[in-house]
Amino acid sequence: MIVQKKDIKNFTLNELQEDIKNSGVEKYRATQLFDLLYKKGIEDFREMLSLPAPFRDLLQENYYISKIDLANLAKSKDQTEKYLFKLEDENLIESVLIFSDERVTECISTQIGCKYNCLFCESGKKGFIRNLTVGEILNQVLFVKKKMKSNPNNIVFMGIGEPLDNYDNVVKAICILNSKNAFNIGARKITLSTCGIIPAIKRLQERNWQIELSVSLHAPENKLRSYLMPVNNLYPLPDLIEACRNYADKTNRQITFEYILIKGVNDSLIYADELAKLIGRFNSKVNLITFNPAPDSLLQAPAASQVKSFKNKLIAKGIPTTIRISKGDDISAACGQLKSLHLK
Ligand code: SF4
Repeated sequence: MIVQKKDIKNFTLNELQEDIKNSGVEKYRATQLFDLLYKKGIEDFREMLSLPAPFRDLLQENYYISKIDLANLAKSKDQTEKYLFKLEDENLIESVLIFSDERVTECISTQIGCKYNCLFCESGKKGFIRNLTVGEILNQVLFVKKKMKSNPNNIVFMGIGEPLDNYDNVVKAICILNSKNAFNIGARKITLSTCGIIPAIKRLQERNWQIELSVSLHAPENKLRSYLMPVNNLYPLPDLIEACRNYADKTNRQITFEYILIKGVNDSLIYADELAKLIGRFNSKVNLITFNPAPDSLLQAPAASQVKSFKNKLIAKGIPTTIRISKGDDISAACGQLKSLHLK
């Protein structure tokens, strides 16, 4: 009988304990294995010499250790690094490494393509291929960890794909990133960004995690949001705001609303007023992003003065607001852009 080998990185610690227990191996061996995989970065069971030989043989027969290959690395003048990774089935995904104030943030992908086709996003234009596995999500962090010889300080789920559309794998990946036996990255150093998948926000709320939740709003008005983000037809703005309010109340965590400013589309100060009215009554803040156009985009970035006026308007209304400093403009660092260039 041919044994279908399982990627060892697709297992949380609890799942691995159960899986090896079924083969008569004591649970604590799973903790040792996590240490070797995620802290020591060993990628071959045969090199795990601190494990007993029969257990190494069992691992070799039933599991494998997935890897990703680097297909391209682009480095920006501002130090931002964009990694294009090739998966075992030849599909491509991106991760971005952003350096600021001695901190390193890694932005990782969760899907190959995306179903939601937001007007301003390169990833959505290519359609959806498949979800990333837990191992494929973690391999992006492991690759960088190996290169830097330490964890990134922050992980943001803002690369290609909608994380909450791959809920189970993303939640498992967060468990492993946060686990003291694996990456040991604090929950508050992990940000999950969503376009507003309401049922998944409700599920996440039940976990009562301390991770940062970031919701892409991009318009304070239902019709405009549907134009920019077709997902709004499925989960309309009033329902999304209600779900966010409940999430903030239940978890006692501040929600960040992302708002990408596009010239002549959603950057009028009237929208700043509407936005303040919409989110003003609960624990939230706004992160403004200046649109970073792809080479063939018809949409344009607003003037810096307009971005500043939008921010000032929100602050005057009592909404904590920041402007995300644009990084990596010279290497197409916005989500999906490097992959598009590479494929062209
Ligand atoms: S912005 Fe996010 S949700 Fe929208 S198409 Fe791009 S990856 Fe998908």
